[in-house]
Amino acid sequence: MKGRVLIIGAGGVGTVVAKKVAMNSDVFTDIMLASRTKSKCDAIAANIKEAKIKTAQVDADSVEELVKLFKEFQPELVINVALPYQDLTIMDACLECGVNYLDTANYEPIDEAKFEYHWQWAYKERFEQAGLTAILGCGFDPGVTGVFTAYAAKHHFDEIHYLDIVDCNAGDHKRPFATNFNPEINIREITQKGKYWENGQWVETEPQEIHQPITYPEVGPRESYLLYHEELESLTKNFPTIKRARFWMTFGQEYLTHLRVIQNIGMASIEPIMYEGREIVPIQFLKAVLPDPKELGENYTGQTSIGCRIRGIKDGKERTYYVYNNCSHEAAYKETGAQGVSYTTGVPATIGAMMFFKGIWRKPGVYNVEEFDPDPFMEELNKQGLPWHEQFDIDLEL
Ligand code: NDP
Repeated sequence: MKGRVLIIGAGGVGTVVAKKVAMNSDVFTDIMLASRTKSKCDAIAANIKEAKIKTAQVDADSVEELVKLFKEFQPELVINVALPYQDLTIMDACLECGVNYLDTANYEPIDEAKFEYHWQWAYKERFEQAGLTAILGCGFDPGVTGVFTAYAAKHHFDEIHYLDIVDCNAGDHKRPFATNFNPEINIREITQKGKYWENGQWVETEPQEIHQPITYPEVGPRESYLLYHEELESLTKNFPTIKRARFWMTFGQEYLTHLRVIQNIGMASIEPIMYEGREIVPIQFLKAVLPDPKELGENYTGQTSIGCRIRGIKDGKERTYYVYNNCSHEAAYKETGAQGVSYTTGVPATIGAMMFFKGIWRKPGVYNVEEFDPDPFMEELNKQGLPWHEQFDIDLEL
């Protein structure tokens, strides 16, 4: 069993996870990539020379199909980089077969654009009783942003009071409109109402209502929009001294104009409609005609810059702290064949899996990443292609 890992999902993120897992074959001894379309798994595996990757077809919406595959391959850990809709079926199959679990996005019902952790946190006792570990939200955001916050709390603060997660994509993929990860999930996330935590409660905003320029390292000022992001839920729970927690993401004017048109003409809707005698969901049809995020890498220039800006108290004095990573789309593509957003998600998922196999992040139950020791993960970020930087006592702008 040791080192046997099953990756589910052959998209942009799955491409990076498969490559990075293969590059760390001292930890991952047997690797399988399974997804809805086996030919996509085969194409990814054929491009990886560092290790042999087995492939399989699976519909991850079916617990029965998953159980059959788990029994055949006998993985010790599943890395779920399919879609958030599959989280619960994969967790159910893990419980049935005694397999550990890791994902990068929290469960979302397909017919309701609402992401909350309670569905997955409800599995805590069952994972505890089965002696299995589930690691939730181990991409970049959520993921590294939680590890950054835990690292700040461990080393630089007695109490964190203000947390701003700032996510900038200053890349150019040379397409009029494309999303950097699954279009359906991305558009559902951005068209939702905004939400942030302040003084013990959630404050709701209209979509993109609050925005301001934020200056990103090596990028400069970019208009950044407050939106709700899932790690705010777990971080405010796990760090109860936080008085305010917000999430900011940059969008270009072109992107926002396209998004507005898409919404105005009804193409962002998740309500099924009848088309030529069959039911279709507009946003799923839109996904089929938009560029595949996996194909954006080739001419992608520029970089991402994602980090945590934190204000709090250390030794009775107020201090500020900024910890961030910048990731070049070109370098990501050169190494893995995928663009920076897939890379910044797939590398942390791989590191989380390494932490599990090394026995460092392994305890029965269901956990968000900030509940584990951040230090070995932070060390590995530097080695696996996502080096981070710190700034102290600066003007956080927020
Ligand atoms: P893609 O759409 O590129 O890939 C998703 C893959 O999952 C596809 O290969 C798809 O198969 C497969 N899939 C979908 N449904 C099923 C199913 N029922 N059974 C088996 N396989 C299925 O998405 P990305 O790679 O861009 O994103 C993957 C995940 O990563 C998403 O959950 C996303 O939310 C998350 N993410 C997390 C981030 C973070 O920082 N935490 C950032 C970016 C993404 P097919 O090819 O047949 O369609």
